[in-house]
Amino acid sequence: NLIAKLLNVSYAYPDGTKAVKNVSLELRRGNVICITGPNGSGKSTLLMILAALIFPQEGEVYLFGKKIDKKNASEVRKKIGFLFQNPDDMLFNPSVIEEISFGLIAKGVNREISNNLALEEMKKLKIENLAYKVPHRLSFGQRRLVSLASILVTDPSLLLLDEPTSNLDEKNRELIIERLMEFFGNRKDDWGAAIATHDNELIYICNEFFYMSEGELSRI
Ligand code: ADP
Ligand code: ADP
Repeated sequence: NLIAKLLNVSYAYPDGTKAVKNVSLELRRGNVICITGPNGSGKSTLLMILAALIFPQEGEVYLFGKKIDKKNASEVRKKIGFLFQNPDDMLFNPSVIEEISFGLIAKGVNREISNNLALEEMKKLKIENLAYKVPHRLSFGQRRLVSLASILVTDPSLLLLDEPTSNLDEKNRELIIERLMEFFGNRKDDWGAAIATHDNELIYICNEFFYMSEGELSRI
């Protein structure tokens, strides 16, 4: 019944920085968790653990009921959409349309269907005019929209968003908030999301709230 579960998880970076300390967390089906807290408190690291991108030295990670280790992580990652705080960490295709259809094609969806789904998502985010532009030459806000589209189009069962509305102008910020509300509203039960954010407006789309401070997580 749980999308994700962390049990007494601790993570230290190779340089010794203890970024996450003894964190336990349950993400139930249909729920959206918001995590706030100061910069450097460990929110991104916690999301990366939930994405099975990094592996804690202590504790246990369960995703979709399965205990996660390095060996089974890549299988489970196919059901996860991770929006990095910096869109440049995710854009690597020669055109926007290829960028957004990439995840679907990687999943085996044929190119025509993938392109059509990509175009639909681009229309929702009002970036269809960017289809044949080079992603890394776009403005920051446009790059954020493209990376969000590339995630939402794959319809992930676990959606992880790291500061999805940070450093945006008001127009792009509203666009993203409205699209997330629509996306969440249309989802059925078999999914969950966790969002690291300082944006007070995003708090309205969450139903559980946590605060991170110096690697420790507490419910608020
Ligand atoms: P937040 O997302 O809340 O800003 P982070 O998870 O990015 O916090 O960082 C938590 C802590 O881990 C900070 O002290 C940060 O400096 C440190 N940190 C983040 N990434 C690395 C890394 N690759 N190597 C070493 N320390 C890191
Ligand atoms: P793995 O099999 O190790 O999970 P994948 O082949 O699925 O790796 O993906 C390779 C990398 O590309 C991963 O880090 C994944 O997060 C990233 N990735 C996959 N799809 C997309 C996408 N549509 N946009 C941006 N990055 C993506």
